[in-house]
Amino acid sequence: MKVIDHIRQAKDVLVSFEVLPPLKGKNISSLYTHLDPMMEFKPSFISVTYHRSEHIFKKKNDGTFEKVEVRKRPGTVSICAAIMNHYQVDAVPHLICGGFTKRETEDALIDLNFLGIDNVLVLRGDAAKNETAFEPEPGGNKYAIDLLKQVDRLNNGIYLEEDIRDGYRTNFCMGVAGYPEKHFEAPNLETDLRYLKSKVDAGAEYIVTQMFFDNAKYFQFVDKCREVGITVPIIPGLKPLTSKKQLTVIPRIFHVDLPNDLIDAMSKAKTDEDCDTVGEEWLIHQSKELKQAGVPVLHYYTLGKPKVVYNAVKAVF
Ligand code: FAD
Repeated sequence: MKVIDHIRQAKDVLVSFEVLPPLKGKNISSLYTHLDPMMEFKPSFISVTYHRSEHIFKKKNDGTFEKVEVRKRPGTVSICAAIMNHYQVDAVPHLICGGFTKRETEDALIDLNFLGIDNVLVLRGDAAKNETAFEPEPGGNKYAIDLLKQVDRLNNGIYLEEDIRDGYRTNFCMGVAGYPEKHFEAPNLETDLRYLKSKVDAGAEYIVTQMFFDNAKYFQFVDKCREVGITVPIIPGLKPLTSKKQLTVIPRIFHVDLPNDLIDAMSKAKTDEDCDTVGEEWLIHQSKELKQAGVPVLHYYTLGKPKVVYNAVKAVF
């Protein structure tokens, strides 16, 4: 079932989770161990991130370096199919522009369609580790909106091979990313919102936000979206902060601010357990306020801390 239909039919605030594919060398059972307890909350969907390959330089015996391509977390499409099969829960693969030609994207979409997956979260992706700025693949999509338009064309039976007449129309429900604190490359929030609106105008049916730790930022973002005419559901993305190191890592990687109260509480924590408790309590506080405000879905980035997320969701639902 499509994410937008889950939202339309909901009688209360829904729950969903985001997971990463297991690292290469691990089995899918590691993912099931992580997800099994979460099934208690009857998630409406589980989204699965996409990780492009990276180039690394490997030192050879003769002292020279060899450029090697490594893909640390393969399997997004098959994991989605496995999740749907194992849990009978809808899975949402993240689709990115980076590293893909349009032809490869089309083939991936055909695979998804054959597997009965009718949701995609459409993203540009970040720059590869060896790039200073995002570079589209030659023959690939440059921005999320370009990828969105490609999915939309397939939804209208238009394939890259022009001689395919009367092509099968896929039926993907498309979500896109939104940034309450602005995407880091955007010159200002207004410009970023203009591009976000163009993604919605091109067919995105809902928005999932970047994580935020201050609910006021989400509420202001929703107000600004509504002011510019974005009317689709805006799903808040939530992640627990569970270590002192993250006080600097999270702002650097995700370009989000942390509230003073959270910084103070985390700075006072003495043990790893104290840090988890601070993160859990903050997540409960954020979730309760958002639930009270009637957001469509609470979407949890479970990443490395499933137990903290589990405890928080248990306290809220
Ligand atoms: P876009 O919407 O293309 O925007 C990128 C930048 O370009 C923005 O600054 C925007 O303002 C600007 N822009 C947009 N359209 C135009 C235009 N037409 N002309 C000029 N400028 C434009 N990354 C992954 O690699 N894998 C994942 O699985 C993944 N999952 C994510 C899930 C969520 C919920 C979020 C919020 C992010 C996720 N990301 C993921 C990270 C995401 O790929 C990066 O934040 C990326 O830098 C931007 O992606 P986007 O889809 O928002 O890009």
